[in-house]
Amino acid sequence: MSEPKRKTVLLVEDNEDNLVVYRTILDYVGYHVLEARDGEEGIRLARQEHPDLILMDISIPKIDGWEATRRLKADPGTRAIPVIALTAHALEEDRQKALQAGCNSYLAKPVEPRRVVEEVRRFVGPPAD
Ligand code: MN
Repeated sequence: MSEPKRKTVLLVEDNEDNLVVYRTILDYVGYHVLEARDGEEGIRLARQEHPDLILMDISIPKIDGWEATRRLKADPGTRAIPVIALTAHALEEDRQKALQAGCNSYLAKPVEPRRVVEEVRRFVGPPAD
C-alpha cells in the first residue's frame, strides 16, 4: 500500500520568524509546506504546484498579498485554491479588502499557530485523507 498523499499548503510570508513558526506547526501536524517570500514567487508556485491551500501574508515584497490574490482568483487555473489572508490588523477595512480581493478567509496577526492550523483544516480537512 502506498502512503496517503499529504495535502500541500503554500505559505507566502516574508517575515522569517513567522515563516518558521507556521511552517513548523503545519509540517508537524502533517501538511506538506511550500514557501514563497514575495508575491511574485507566490503566484509562480501556485500556478506550478497547485497547492491545496494558500496562506497569504498581505505585506510582502514585489506584489502585495491583495494583488497576488486578485491575480490568482482571476486565473482559471488557480481560482479554486482557497486563500487565507494574514493581515496585520483586525480592522473591518481589512476584512472588506480581503473579501474584495477574493480571499476565502482572513486571520489577523499575531495569529497563534494553533489557530492557523484550525483554519487550514476548516478548508482542506486533515493533512491526508
Ligand atoms: Mn510581511
